[in-house]
Amino acid sequence: MIRLTRKVFTDLAIWMIGLGLVMGLVFPFFVGMMGVPAELALTPWFFAATMTAGCMVGGANIWLTKSVVGIRLRTLADRMRFVETNLRTFAQTGNAEKCTVDACHVDVDSEDEIGESAKAFNYLVESLAYSHRTDAAVRSFTEVLSSHLELDVLSSKALEQLLEHSEAAAGAILITEEGELKIASSQGIRTPDSLCKSDHVRRAIQTASRVTVNLPQDVTVEGILTNFRPREVLVDPVFYKEVPLGAIVLASGAGFKDDAKSRLDLFRHGLALAFNNALTHDRLQTLAALDPLTGIYNRRFGMARLHEEFGRAIRMTGTLGVMMLDIDHFKKVNDTYGHLAGDRVLVHVAKTTRAALREGDVLMRYGGEEFLVILPAASKANSHDLGERIRRMVEDSSVAEGDQMICVTISIGITSFPELAAASDQELVKRADEALYSAKESGRNRVIVG
Ligand code: GH3
Ligand code: MG
Ligand code: MG
Repeated sequence: MIRLTRKVFTDLAIWMIGLGLVMGLVFPFFVGMMGVPAELALTPWFFAATMTAGCMVGGANIWLTKSVVGIRLRTLADRMRFVETNLRTFAQTGNAEKCTVDACHVDVDSEDEIGESAKAFNYLVESLAYSHRTDAAVRSFTEVLSSHLELDVLSSKALEQLLEHSEAAAGAILITEEGELKIASSQGIRTPDSLCKSDHVRRAIQTASRVTVNLPQDVTVEGILTNFRPREVLVDPVFYKEVPLGAIVLASGAGFKDDAKSRLDLFRHGLALAFNNALTHDRLQTLAALDPLTGIYNRRFGMARLHEEFGRAIRMTGTLGVMMLDIDHFKKVNDTYGHLAGDRVLVHVAKTTRAALREGDVLMRYGGEEFLVILPAASKANSHDLGERIRRMVEDSSVAEGDQMICVTISIGITSFPELAAASDQELVKRADEALYSAKESGRNRVIVG
């Protein structure tokens, strides 16, 4: 059809009115051929009447087209604009109005091209809404992951999100630590520890692909009224650059929907990256706290621990012992056997001291060949007994250097809060150091309480 203007409906109107006029013009000749006398049919009045009728039919057609087709196209255009604005807002702010059926869909009320267009539009909106929901879920998941670096917090937050977005009833996140699988977080699984030995989990990690288990024997979910066996369990391995970091286990009472499964695939990549960051952070934190030679805490980290323990002793009106150790004539060891042998002696004294301590005690390398021990809940008498034991253990032991045995002794200075009414942790350290000085002055290889 030849285009007359830039508007399809205006073109249509021109064609319809034009056609009406032509019909009006032809009609008098037609009725003449049908036998109506020319003096009646071919009069200006009759021409005017038929052309007016032709125009009116054309006008009626325009109105009908506008109200049948035009109105539907208008609704379609309005909905498209709404969806488009929504997408734009979402892209800019991450928020958008909910695209409900009422707001976004168009009615499918005809079985022709118009109905087909309406159907196609509705499918398109559905697909957009689905990818929008996925995008929003991935955004919120990534946000949660990137705001936590501690592995335990990260795992429990990530699990919460995974359960929410997959509609799983229960789940767990497992982490590989020194070749062993450990539960980092679990929710609703009755015996999560058994997952660490599960063949399904092992298979998922070995094959680096998802394992789906229907009605598993070895997973029980804690229900509200009773425990139950889930209908479907998904085991997803988590890899970062081909290194296995762990696995996600999710259990569903009713089975997982396809879109939940594909969403989990998207989450898995983000989770791997976040876990890798958290594990690296963990390792760096540990490295930053340790003395590289002896493997015990360094002075910076150890003194921060002392500060904490002193604060706790004050709050809980508890006792806190502090012990300062120094190797006697260590310079001579270095001079006689060399620096490397001296290093081994340092490691040996650290190990011997560590072996004599309890779980909550803190041992740090305070200086070159000086160590400081924090003894929560230890009085002066307790600390003295322990100091004596360590002193004897060091005295009775030795370090082999070729065919020679290096023997060293240590001097120890001790004090304890609140027997010493120290106002600060530094004051405690100062008093222990003074006691150590007295031990050195009075002949070394002894324990002095200050
Ligand atoms: P005292 O009985 O009075 O404590 O005598 P000392 O020789 O142990 O004390 P001094 O402070 O004079 O010497 C400490 C020596 O410890 C000096 C230093 O070379 C050595 N030292 C410090 N750090 C290290 C280390 O990491 N490795 C080795 N091998 N030696 C170290
Ligand atoms: Mg010394
Ligand atoms: Mg010293």
